[in-house]
Amino acid sequence: MGLDNLLAGNAITLKLKEAVAWARKYSLWPMPYGTACCAIEFMGVVAPYFDISRFGAELVRFSPRQSDLLMVMGTINYKQAPILKRIYDQMCHPKWVIAMGACATSGGFYNNYSVLQGIDEIVPVDVYIPGCPPRPEGILNALVKLQEKITQEARKDV
Ligand code: SF4
Repeated sequence: MGLDNLLAGNAITLKLKEAVAWARKYSLWPMPYGTACCAIEFMGVVAPYFDISRFGAELVRFSPRQSDLLMVMGTINYKQAPILKRIYDQMCHPKWVIAMGACATSGGFYNNYSVLQGIDEIVPVDVYIPGCPPRPEGILNALVKLQEKITQEARKDV
């Protein structure tokens, strides 16, 4: 009896990096970087009604060294940009970034000399959430999109 026949129906096989990605995507530790009204909406997502813990991301941390998901919520001005960049740099790899809302994504309606026109000018963004502010469902949808991205990254042959 060949090994394939022996395993048929009795075992699940997958690459180690896919198993690691599976564990990572269901145990994200978000760090909320809230500067404005979008951060209030995030509070609803971690509360029981929307319950972000269903997606394995309820362990909110306020230290970049304990986080792997930076969630930027609100307006980022040029004075604050170096702080955001430094916090991103302090996070260990692998790490991901979600830009929540119009301000973090593109500057929103603050199209002026003092506001960064999107955080992707200083940090790489994995998922953008549209809206002003986004609905909690939009935030959960972004989380699912990020989980899919983590799986796809693991399947790529590097
Ligand atoms: S996108 Fe809208 S709700 Fe979010 S921080 Fe900007 S102004 Fe506030």
